[in-house]
Amino acid sequence: MELNKLTAHGLKHLLDKGDISNIDICNDVLEAIEKKDKALNAIVHFDKEKAIEKSKASKGLPIFIKDNICVKDELTTCSSKILSGFRPPYNATVIEKLLKKDFVLMGKTNMDEFAFGSSTESSCYGPTKNPWDLERIPGGSSGGSAACVAADEAIFALGSDTGGSIRQPAALCGVVGLKPTYGRVSRYGLIAFASSLDQIGTLTKDVEDAALLLKTISGHDAMDSTSVPVSTPDYSLKIKDSIKGLRIGVPQEYFGQGLDSDVKDSVLKAIDKIGQLGAKCEKVSLPHTEYAVAVYYIVATAEASSNLARFDGVQYGLRAKDVKSIEEMYKKTRALGFGDEAKRRIILGTFALSSGYYDAYYLRALRVRTLIKKDFDEAFAKFDAILTPTSPTPAFKIGEKTQDPLTMYLSDIFTISANLAGIPGVSIPCGFTKENLPVGLQILGKPFDEETILKVAYNYEQATEWHKKRPDL
Ligand code: GLN
Repeated sequence: MELNKLTAHGLKHLLDKGDISNIDICNDVLEAIEKKDKALNAIVHFDKEKAIEKSKASKGLPIFIKDNICVKDELTTCSSKILSGFRPPYNATVIEKLLKKDFVLMGKTNMDEFAFGSSTESSCYGPTKNPWDLERIPGGSSGGSAACVAADEAIFALGSDTGGSIRQPAALCGVVGLKPTYGRVSRYGLIAFASSLDQIGTLTKDVEDAALLLKTISGHDAMDSTSVPVSTPDYSLKIKDSIKGLRIGVPQEYFGQGLDSDVKDSVLKAIDKIGQLGAKCEKVSLPHTEYAVAVYYIVATAEASSNLARFDGVQYGLRAKDVKSIEEMYKKTRALGFGDEAKRRIILGTFALSSGYYDAYYLRALRVRTLIKKDFDEAFAKFDAILTPTSPTPAFKIGEKTQDPLTMYLSDIFTISANLAGIPGVSIPCGFTKENLPVGLQILGKPFDEETILKVAYNYEQATEWHKKRPDL
């Protein structure tokens, strides 16, 4: 049996019975990485000997971590040249929680530089490939985490989602991607992109694993002032309840122009199926949806420009040489260290925040953000969950959108609103296009009601086979 192909809950069962040891799992994972990762480039920091050592010292399951989550003394670079060689002196809270439960931290996964992107092409380590078609992107920015799970190089992985970076690559790689409610999971030790939007979440092979992993990483944390003191439910138990009578909204705004016809077909069929399972699906309107991308690219770049100010060659990573003054050192380091997309975002964000433009752009965007949130509040007064496509298209070709940032930005048109509103969302496999590329269904929920969206996801998954299909690498 190739243990790398199993789910975490499947493996836990075998471990508990004593049929296998965690070293067996580690060995199968290592073999898969050796076979496939040259082609995929999903994993960026990985030391085989260290991984074996760690798995001998522990009894838990192996897990991969996105390269923007701090792991003490391990390379953590946000796939950016400017953080080359950076090893944090502390663990992110999610890492502490994993270690307490004996998880084995295998290594770091590839991502768009500082999580800026939807394709994992802006990484300083080169693009990750989609395991379903090596000429295509895996989505992003958590493309490495999604691809390594889809290719069975990993059992599961952590990612981060600021505007769709977990859900969109999950959809494009055919795995389950969960972005929890803003404040459910501590962001302490997640290198900040846009602090009011960022959230750590999970990439897994099925919904039950998402429930398991969410429980492990959730909980109030005094180290993150935006972490909310609410209790953590036992998701694995509740998701198996029936969805009979659940009220589900289907927003018309998500099914218009720009939606690929194969994606649309699969998603509409999935909504039908969920109706057959007993939920009541009805149309709903989220009228401010059309402003989401514009609002996001003002708020996110404003926050990013501020968060990235700390990378100046003094404290972290890269420092330019042959300079005559500290100012020249700052300038040279940033010019050398940041890639094109990071520079574009710093310029956009600084512009939106500059005096004279602040009111016209930034403040206005904040007001529209409130309206987007209000749309969801009103919808959730009537509905328990909302169903949409996760991504307007399946995985696109490598290089197809790199010359045109605006079309790249539109890849997140269906995922961004959830971050602006702070609500939870999950993407699950719901079909394939004619070219055999995975399609994702997005389920959005009320704040702190991950239980309901996971319940809908679990019920659908149990009634279908999509999540069992694996790419033929
Ligand atoms: N693709 C979006 C962006 O480039 C979202 C990225 C993310 O969620 N980190 O900003």
